[in-house]
Amino acid sequence: MAERVALVTGASRGIGRAIAVRLARDGVAVAVNYRQQATAAQEVVETITAAGGRAIAVAGDVGQPGVAEALVEATLQAFGRLDILVNNAGIARDSLLLRLSPEDWHAVLATNLTGAYLCTRAALRPMLRQRWGRILNISSVAGQLGNAGQANYAAAKAGLLGLTRSTAREVASRGITVNALAPGYITTDMWATVPESARAATLRLIPLGREGTPEEVAEAAAFLVSDGAGYITGQVLNVDGGLVMA
Ligand code: NAP
Repeated sequence: MAERVALVTGASRGIGRAIAVRLARDGVAVAVNYRQQATAAQEVVETITAAGGRAIAVAGDVGQPGVAEALVEATLQAFGRLDILVNNAGIARDSLLLRLSPEDWHAVLATNLTGAYLCTRAALRPMLRQRWGRILNISSVAGQLGNAGQANYAAAKAGLLGLTRSTAREVASRGITVNALAPGYITTDMWATVPESARAATLRLIPLGREGTPEEVAEAAAFLVSDGAGYITGQVLNVDGGLVMA
């Protein structure tokens, strides 16, 4: 993977951070996207460069028009190519449906789903030219099972699965694979916002009996974007302690 270059959206914290650091360990140069937390993103860059890797931080809200193109351009400027896109940026704005405001509906769809579409479209151009690429969308078990209080989030994450499969069919002939990860409950800032009682109830449903770590999600991501995963496309891999068994 030493010559490869990745753009990881939402990589200043949590799962995106762990994926960026893990890919860098394989020799991948990484563009670390973030929306607001510049200091956290810079810390990720320093962690990677201190270990001998290559990384840059690139700001931008993936749901805004023009940002995806700018992120891809910044990556190409810094590293000369783009091989791997990880659509990880995500937010949750939970509310029961009757109280779910149009603002919270649109905000969650904009970051989690429209952002992935925009970044995929922008990243495909260099990937199609070089006839090699890996796109990985970070969905969620919520997109498979639904979740009370998360209609917006679950709809966005289910939408990502349709985006994954359709794009996989469109670009397979060009050596580009498109897959999704469906994490379960992972110890990040997002999970920390869930009330303690709800977390305890959820833990009882997980066969492995615990939350997952961002590093465990990153291991699966590193495999799916590797050369070795070249015959896998249009798939969803759950990293959820056995919560969803198809
Ligand atoms: P997190 O700790 O809240 O981190 C979110 C990251 O996304 C941050 O780097 C944030 O940047 C960035 N971000 C948010 N909105 C953005 C935007 N519009 N444009 C660019 N970057 C944006 O979240 P996480 O738990 O690591 O989740 C990462 C992904 O995994 C999300 O897609 C989430 O839905 C999914 N997921 C998480 C879990 C879980 O249990 N944690 C389970 C299933 C799926 P700033 O730091 O600048 O704000």
